[in-house]
Amino acid sequence: MSNNPKLTTTSGAPWPNNQDSVTAGERGPLLMQDYQLLEKLAHQNRERIPERTVHAKGWGAHGVLKITADLSKYTKAKALQAGAETPMLARFSTVAGESGAADHERDVRGFALKFYTEEGNWDLVGNNTPVFFIRDAYKFPDFIHTQKRHPKTNMRSPTAMWDFWSLSPESLHQVTILMSDRGLPVSPMHMNGYGSHTYSLWNDKGERYWVKFHFKTEQGNKTYTNEQAERIVGRTREGYQEQLFNSIKDGYFPRWKMQIQVMEELEAENCAFNPFDLTKVWPHADFPLMDVGYFELNRNPENYFAEVETAAFAPSNIVPGISWSPDKMLQARIFSYADAHRHRLGTHYDQIPVNRPKCPVHHYHKDGEMNVYGGMKTGNPNAYYEPNSFNGPVEQRDAQEPPLRVSGDAERYDHRTGHDDYSQPRALYEKVMTQDERDRLHGNMGGALVGVPTEIVERWMGHLKQVHPDYEAGVRAKWEEKSAEAGYDPNGLPITGDTPHEAGDETPHEPTIASE
Ligand code: NDP
Repeated sequence: MSNNPKLTTTSGAPWPNNQDSVTAGERGPLLMQDYQLLEKLAHQNRERIPERTVHAKGWGAHGVLKITADLSKYTKAKALQAGAETPMLARFSTVAGESGAADHERDVRGFALKFYTEEGNWDLVGNNTPVFFIRDAYKFPDFIHTQKRHPKTNMRSPTAMWDFWSLSPESLHQVTILMSDRGLPVSPMHMNGYGSHTYSLWNDKGERYWVKFHFKTEQGNKTYTNEQAERIVGRTREGYQEQLFNSIKDGYFPRWKMQIQVMEELEAENCAFNPFDLTKVWPHADFPLMDVGYFELNRNPENYFAEVETAAFAPSNIVPGISWSPDKMLQARIFSYADAHRHRLGTHYDQIPVNRPKCPVHHYHKDGEMNVYGGMKTGNPNAYYEPNSFNGPVEQRDAQEPPLRVSGDAERYDHRTGHDDYSQPRALYEKVMTQDERDRLHGNMGGALVGVPTEIVERWMGHLKQVHPDYEAGVRAKWEEKSAEAGYDPNGLPITGDTPHEAGDETPHEPTIASE
């Protein structure tokens, strides 16, 4: 007798034969009563859940956050006090590609962290860049449409991407980073993470501070060129999964240094730029980085689907001592991430083991999809509403954050007027990048613009010129050079008119923005 576990049905009964279907004769037909065959086929049909609309392709691992600095002046969060060690999960991702997309594509990377604190789960759902393409949530669905497939051709559309960006100069900063070396990291371990938004910390005196979170890779920022990445994708589409999984399996545990920038609450009112604008960084010289600790990833998931695909990260998950800010993009994400998970995983997605807090949970939400452990956590079956006389859970007023000061009229303020979209990309281009980095930026962007209609390219060039004349000249030279190599007349593709190239007709294009 073998010592293998015994095969059973999903309801636990012994399963006698997993090779041969039950038929009326040797040659068939099949009998309806062979329910376990139907069960197998039905399960296979249901193995996929809706993939994330954005950030569908991801790689994750478990680890621990350790705090080394004294942050008690800023926050009462227990997970951020000196000496605290908090178990965590990280999921990295590309933004645009579907769940089967190649890992080594030029794209922004998601950098999502879930900290299982003793006061509830704290999720910091950021990117590997400190800024984003847009500053107003109204633009998010439009922006993502340009990154996904064209409705008619079902292909990615460089025309749509550059049309949107050239009509949205607030995107200049993020597009510059995307097209720079940092737009194609060697692996998830070789990139920084940023909370990106401005968040707040509040202490036990009820004082609020604005804060930016940074996670600096201790493996070093390492990047590939487009040509190197193309060679890798020709060999494997799973390069990130291989590197992250195998590193941890082999006992090499990647680490990121955690740092914060802090701004006094009232300082925001006199700041020269809007500190809640997601297209802007806080300059380090004005808001120095403070070391606060580090996190290490040291355990691979046992099951990818259960621990990474069904992991639900949401900026709505905060804990006492940590909160949001007026950032319009953050405010919208508070709703949309949790809502995405309700759609993808079911109403009670927090009951999936990877999402379950490691502290006691008591609430009055009732029934619904995925209510597998009993949604009501009140400790008394009679306490199924609130307030009640049956010793049900009561609110915790001491967890109330200090009031968020708001002022002004309810209005649709023009988010494009009066903002300086050029100075910060200029600082990156002029002050941070070396000439070699600028040259590669010119090449990446010039190549990505090949085949895009001339009016759109010229509109974009106009923005580059306002950042720096060398930026425009460098990208223009590469665009002309690469257009000629690809057989395009850079002045021959107007948006309208009877040409073979109309918006949405991607036939004559280079395949993706990753191609040079
Ligand atoms: P600093 O010189 O103090 O900091 C520059 C930062 O740029 C460093 O954190 C560095 O990261 C990062 N960096 C280097 N190359 C790139 C790249 N190709 N893409 C994105 N980031 C890169 O300057 P300031 O704080 O005055 O900011 C100047 C510009 O630097 C900003 O406009 C912004 O574009 C960029 N930047 C600023 C950050 C901030 O929070 N202030 C954060 C990241 C970028 P590292 O230390 O890991 O090498």
